[in-house]
Amino acid sequence: MKETILGIDVCTHTYEQLINELMYNIDQNKKSFIVAINPEKIMKAQSDQSLQELLNHATYQIPDGIGVVLASKIRGGRIKDRVTGIDMMLKLCQEATEQRKNIFLYGAKPGVADQAKEKLEAKFPGIQIAGTLHGYEKDEEVIIKAINDSKADIVFVALGSPAQENWIVKHMNDLHPTVFQGVGGSYDVISGNIKRAPSTFQKLGLEWFYRLLKEPWRIRRQLLLPMFLLKAVKK
Ligand code: UDP
Repeated sequence: MKETILGIDVCTHTYEQLINELMYNIDQNKKSFIVAINPEKIMKAQSDQSLQELLNHATYQIPDGIGVVLASKIRGGRIKDRVTGIDMMLKLCQEATEQRKNIFLYGAKPGVADQAKEKLEAKFPGIQIAGTLHGYEKDEEVIIKAINDSKADIVFVALGSPAQENWIVKHMNDLHPTVFQGVGGSYDVISGNIKRAPSTFQKLGLEWFYRLLKEPWRIRRQLLLPMFLLKAVKK
């Protein structure tokens, strides 16, 4: 259930299908790696072979950006809605709570993962967050030991892209957990340090516009979107 957009695989799964597969994978001890795909990453991968391989190496590439959904629609594909990294993470947290799976939060500035842990514990009573570690620890053995000792089933990795994806590929086979998701700045949002766009913007697919109003310097990144769509249609 994947489509290829400019050389990058993108899953056509809904949240529900993904959650079901991931929970099954945990029970089967099958390693899974989730990466969020947006037009910016696809454009970057056009001239970066190693990034293309890295993104295609993931088990599930989720259509995080509205541009990816549009490209699929224009080409008559099956992707109808975004599957965002942060919502995927929250839904995984909810399901993990119900199925009593353990979670580890790795990444972000010191203190932020702990704040995110508190927020998640308030939102999902009973959630088992077995450990946290900030994303500026340099000693790889310390990181690996913290994660393995926690006996977590799911690790969220918030180091920014593509650092988090590189980290996951390098370590996933030697770590105890089975599910790995790169979540970028999600702990900053969950902890309340950074605000996400209001839900009306999200529903209309205008989260990018809200971010543009808040952070006008993003225009350079966002101008990639029309170029990306043109390229995706031409292919
Ligand atoms: N970060 C980290 N270690 C680093 C560099 C960054 O933990 O060495 C964290 C940073 O604090 C932030 C996240 O990685 O929480 C990156 O967020 P951003 O929104 O930039 O992610 P992206 O846009 O790449 O998804």
